[in-house]
Amino acid sequence: MDQLSNQTNCDIHVKYWGTSGSISSPLKPSCVTEKVINSICSLARNGHLEEIDPDNLEASVTKIVNEHLPFSSKSTFGGNTSCVEINTKDCMIVIDCGTGVINFGINLESKWDSIQENERKGLILFSHMHYDHLFGLPMCHSFYNQNNSFELFGNEKVAGNLLDFFGQNSDMVNSLYPPILSKVKAIKKITPFDEKSIIEIGSTKISSFHLNHPGGSNAFKIETNGKSYVYASDHEQLNETDIQLANFCKNADALYLDGQFLLSEYLGKTGVGSGPATSRVGWGHTPMEWCILTAFAANAKSLHLGHRDPRRTDTDTEKILLYLRAHAAKLSETKQQAAPKILFPHEELDFFI
Ligand SMILES: [Zn+2]
Ligand SMILES: [Zn+2]
Repeated sequence: MDQLSNQTNCDIHVKYWGTSGSISSPLKPSCVTEKVINSICSLARNGHLEEIDPDNLEASVTKIVNEHLPFSSKSTFGGNTSCVEINTKDCMIVIDCGTGVINFGINLESKWDSIQENERKGLILFSHMHYDHLFGLPMCHSFYNQNNSFELFGNEKVAGNLLDFFGQNSDMVNSLYPPILSKVKAIKKITPFDEKSIIEIGSTKISSFHLNHPGGSNAFKIETNGKSYVYASDHEQLNETDIQLANFCKNADALYLDGQFLLSEYLGKTGVGSGPATSRVGWGHTPMEWCILTAFAANAKSLHLGHRDPRRTDTDTEKILLYLRAHAAKLSETKQQAAPKILFPHEELDFFI
C-alpha cells in the first residue's frame, strides 16, 4: 500500500508527534490565557479586528489569525516527548515512543479504519530507552489492536530493556508499570539489530549510527529514491563539528538534531529560562550552534531542532529560532555555502521530502 499522503513529488512524509525533550511539558492554563489576551491585543493594536466580516465570521477570523499572528501566539510547539512518524511508499516507520505516540495512535486508528488487516503494519525504531522516548508505549491504542501488526527494532540493549520494563517475568514489572508485552497484541515481534546492519523494505533503506549519550543512543537514516531523512536526537558531540555524524548524514534532505541547549547554556554561562546557570557538559546533548556546524558539514538541506528543553516557552523558542537563522546566515557568508533551513518542528507538523 502507498503509505504516503497525496502530496505530489513526495518520497518521504515526516510527521512529528512529540518534539519536547526530557519530560512532557503541557501548556499551563495561565499560558493559554496569556496567548488569547496577547493575540486579541495585537490584532486590535494593528487594526485587524476591523477586518472581521460578521456575515462570514469564522472564515474572516481564521484569515486574520493565520495572516497576522505569530506562531507562538496562535499555537504551541507542543509538550509531548519524542515520537516521529515517517511514511515512504514502502512502509510506515515510527521512531521513539515518547508521550507523542499517544496522538500518533489516535490518528492512526482513524487513518487505518478502512484498511485491510494485512496492510495495517509498521516498524517501530527505538533510539534508546530513556523514559522520554519510551513511556508513551503502554498508552498507544494502536499497539493493543490485534488487527495491527508492528515489528519493534532496537539495538541489543534496547530489546533487552524492553523486556525488563514491560515483560511478564521481570523484576521491574508492577513496580515500574503493569506488564504489558502480553497485552499489546499488535507488537508481533521485538528484533534486536546489529548497529551496522541495514533494514531494507522495497526501495526504503534504514541504517543506524551510534551516538554519544549516557547509556548510548542510535541515529536512524531513512533513504528512498535518492532522498533521505536522518533522526539523530540525544547526542553530545565531542567537537564543534561532528565529522563522522556529518558523513553519515551527507546531503540529507532533513536532519533532526538536538535543540535543547544554546551554547551559553551548555557551557553553564546562562540558565535555561529562569533556571540557574549550570554546566550541561556530559548531559548527552549537543548545543544548537554546534548542530548547525554539523548540518553545514553534512550539507543538509534542512535542520530540524527537536528535544526542546521543557522549561522553554513558545515565545522563547521563536526568539531562539530567529537568532539561529541569523547565526546560520553569517556562517553561510563565511563558508560560501547555502545554509540549511532551520526549524523547530512542532507537533502535528507535516514535512514532505
Ligand atoms: Zn531524550
Ligand atoms: Zn536520552
